[in-house]
Amino acid sequence: MDVFDPAELWSRDQIEHTQLMRLRATVAQARKCEFYRRRLDEAGVTPESIRSLEDVRRIPFTTKQDLRDQYPTGMLCVPPSEIVRMHCSSGTTGSPVAICHTQNDINAWADLVARCFYMVGVRKEDVFQNMSGYGLFTGGLGIHFGAERIGCMTIPAGPGNSRRQIKLAKDFKTTVAHILPSYALILGEHLRGMGEDPREFPLRIAVVGAEPYTEEFRRRIEDLFNMKAYNSYGLSEMNGPGVAFECLQQHGMHVWEDCYIPEIIDPETCEPVPDGEIGELVMTCLCRQGMPILRYRTRDLTRFLPGECPCGRKHRRLDRIVGRSDDMFIIKGVNVYPMQIEQVVMSFPQVGQNYLILLENDGFGDVMRVQVEIRDEYFVEDMRTLQGLQKTIANRLRDEILITPKVELVQSNSLPSSEGKAVRVQDLRVKK
Ligand code: ADP
Ligand code: ZN
Repeated sequence: MDVFDPAELWSRDQIEHTQLMRLRATVAQARKCEFYRRRLDEAGVTPESIRSLEDVRRIPFTTKQDLRDQYPTGMLCVPPSEIVRMHCSSGTTGSPVAICHTQNDINAWADLVARCFYMVGVRKEDVFQNMSGYGLFTGGLGIHFGAERIGCMTIPAGPGNSRRQIKLAKDFKTTVAHILPSYALILGEHLRGMGEDPREFPLRIAVVGAEPYTEEFRRRIEDLFNMKAYNSYGLSEMNGPGVAFECLQQHGMHVWEDCYIPEIIDPETCEPVPDGEIGELVMTCLCRQGMPILRYRTRDLTRFLPGECPCGRKHRRLDRIVGRSDDMFIIKGVNVYPMQIEQVVMSFPQVGQNYLILLENDGFGDVMRVQVEIRDEYFVEDMRTLQGLQKTIANRLRDEILITPKVELVQSNSLPSSEGKAVRVQDLRVKK
């Protein structure tokens, strides 16, 4: 197999041996900051005391709050002059955290991202258009350096501005794009609006990640542009993109275990869940000097896919992220994830590119409204057909989440869209 990095093809033994060596080194490195030295001392963890990979469980968790408390540089493990770059998380769920990188960290990260792209067939002949925000967000420079590392001509297009995206892609014959799932459909609709067929667009591969989306959504993106879309997972605390990525099988994302130790725990008990069950992903990075992070509680919910991947790689696969533990909302006593709603609405061909979940209180109790954009060609249907569709969607949602929401069909492009990560839920209920 033609791979970017031989570590991709390592056996389990090779992977685990390297993990153990690197875990010891990472613990030693982490102890260079006051925060981890204290934490690890309290838990009695020294590099020498790590005898097997099981010992990772003796290390205390690191939480987002820890990172906030140590903001901006409390967790630096190298002299500040060794730092060449910092990034922040998007702050989707609160105040940001800062992650600082040395030159070695940046190089290792670019290699990881390149490894992902190469795995799905991106080569130096490709033209890579990065449609995500640059600046503090890791999807900008993180993706950029990975694509350059392969040798692609890399266009730092940035987010939004569909007209300019389309012009750049046409002028430079873009073959690969990094794009937010929510934006991919918007871009496709924009092309259609210009009277063009998105399937004629030169794109052959899309790297799609940064926010949760369903299999239904992926198929839509693929059909719309007649290309392959690969799921890409990462988070700033673990560098950013390049943590886990789908191979050509498109069934689960290989998490690069030579550079990370992934665990999946029950968020309540903090014990590991049985193999194949959904829980919270916990990650330790093994290839970072500037700011190593041990057992980070990502709050992302997923599971390890059981069994081996037909591609032959032995790095375990993460299933699609269901959502963040804090994305879940409770309505009429039922726990609901936005992706359950998406899965249903996006399975209807009449539904366009966007939807919005509104949670309200009408004075008697909680009400959930789901607004869905309907494609222009269906919006002209007679009233009865539309009402029928509305009802069918509501029924299918009830089958999925056990309560019946109010479904409202709206015109395409009428719901708010953001340049960054999509906001799928607006909770307008008054907090007691
Ligand atoms: P923030 O946590 O503020 O959004 P980041 O920009 O670091 O900051 O985003 C990382 C988060 O984005 C992940 O923890 C996860 O919740 C989400 N994410 C990234 N990639 C994916 C993906 N492929 N599928 C689902 N969610 C993803
Ligand atoms: Zn595979």
